[in-house]
Amino acid sequence: MTGPQTLRNYIGGEWVEATSGRTEAVPNPATGETLAIVPLSSKEDVNNAVAAAKAAFAQWKQVAVPRRARILFKYQQLLVEHWDELAKLVTQENGKSLGEAYGEVQRGIECVEFAAGAPTLMMGSTLPDIATGIESNFHRYPVGVVGGITPFNFPMMVPCWMYPLAIACGNTFVLKPSERTPVLACRLAELFTEAGLPAGVLNIVHGAHDVVNGLLESPDVAAISFVGSQPVAEYVYKTAAAHGKRVQALAGAKNHSIVMPDANLDLAVKEIINASFGSAGERCMATSVVVAVGNVADELVARLTEAAKAISIGNGLDEGVFLGPVIRDSAKARTLSYIEAGEQEGAQLLLDGRQVEAAGGCGYFVGPTIFDNVKEGMKIWKDEIFAPVLSVVRVETLDEAIEIANRSEFANGGVLFTDSAKAIRHYRENIDAGMLGINVGVPAPMAFFPFSGYKKSFYGDLHANGKDGVEFYTRKKMMVARY
Ligand code: NAD
Repeated sequence: MTGPQTLRNYIGGEWVEATSGRTEAVPNPATGETLAIVPLSSKEDVNNAVAAAKAAFAQWKQVAVPRRARILFKYQQLLVEHWDELAKLVTQENGKSLGEAYGEVQRGIECVEFAAGAPTLMMGSTLPDIATGIESNFHRYPVGVVGGITPFNFPMMVPCWMYPLAIACGNTFVLKPSERTPVLACRLAELFTEAGLPAGVLNIVHGAHDVVNGLLESPDVAAISFVGSQPVAEYVYKTAAAHGKRVQALAGAKNHSIVMPDANLDLAVKEIINASFGSAGERCMATSVVVAVGNVADELVARLTEAAKAISIGNGLDEGVFLGPVIRDSAKARTLSYIEAGEQEGAQLLLDGRQVEAAGGCGYFVGPTIFDNVKEGMKIWKDEIFAPVLSVVRVETLDEAIEIANRSEFANGGVLFTDSAKAIRHYRENIDAGMLGINVGVPAPMAFFPFSGYKKSFYGDLHANGKDGVEFYTRKKMMVARY
């Protein structure tokens, strides 16, 4: 009998054992069964991967851009062919439902499709006559070795925000996937290699903070892309900047959905249920606060509670399951402590996810939880819980709703449910959030647009994806020429 496999690092085109000897089990959060053992690699492992990436950069940056793009096209084809397998891996290591995992794989593939546009994206520009007989132009180049650090909640999509575009732009990459969801990343690297990616262009070093610090401190890493929680994002931003790197650090969120009295309630309830409880609330674009305006509150709350009670909970691989587990026992314990805090602070607990019954029994399940009459300042209003816990705040006007949302420390997403063009315009002009939905519960931008949170939801200048991503992964040379 063979036990769970110990993962290896991928360095210079070889699968190699980590040097540290330290490991951690990776459980399937729906069953508790160990899926794999992940090494907690050392700085020595990071240095080996960075050295391989640096060596590969010398050749990769010279590969003609259309040839690089062709490898991306082949990779896209392989990802499509392995869609089922990849989605199943996402569900097994993350816990989200298979339907959501399919959607996540699609989002990852779209990033590869965008990156395959590198010949156009990498173009510079020219002005032939800045003065008599003098022209000026800029040329775009890769920055060098890029380090990517990713969270557990989108094991495919978030790494795909980073390495396909960075690599298409001519950089080489060292990825540190979340140690809580490290399995899929290995498959992503295998398929890229099968697509023809040369050794050393994409490297993977598994582990936790030692690997992160190794990347942040390495003099041979030019840029850091980070996605994860707010405190770590702030730390990564400051530390990477102190080591002279460019950095983009996407962080946590507390997204407010405002529901106006004229909203289509069938649509609003369906969208909010998905946005609050889909992926067990473990999305940076999840709705964690609903702000009910005026007389919509009673009916909205009643319908949300009824719909939430009907949610099927269980192993995401099982047909018909909507709500899977949270990622770890510790995440469940943290969520339960927030539910207790909400009760103690006087919010009205309408639906209590602590009492959940899920098939299988051993997973880290929390049922959908709804608090009504939540007030600004309560912990459940303020903090990112990252679990299927929804707070409802009641106000009288759209302006009050916008003011409350704007007092959140975070500014990732925001949603308005209404049929009024005037309200939409007023909302867009006054809300402090980077990604807005109008009658759309999860307004996550597609790969060709930037993922554009701000305040404590983002540290840096250039966001992930779209033209921002191209700017982040390239530098420009300006030339003024007289011939
Ligand atoms: P996390 O911050 O715990 O971990 C993210 C990465 O940082 C992991 O690779 C982890 O190993 C590393 N890390 C953790 N603690 C560290 C430390 N002390 N020092 C150095 N490195 C450390 O985040 P998570 O729990 O994996 O992911 C969930 C968080 O990510 C949520 O806050 C969510 O909102 C956020 N997120 C944000 C976006 C966005 O676009 N803004 C997208 C997805 C997730």
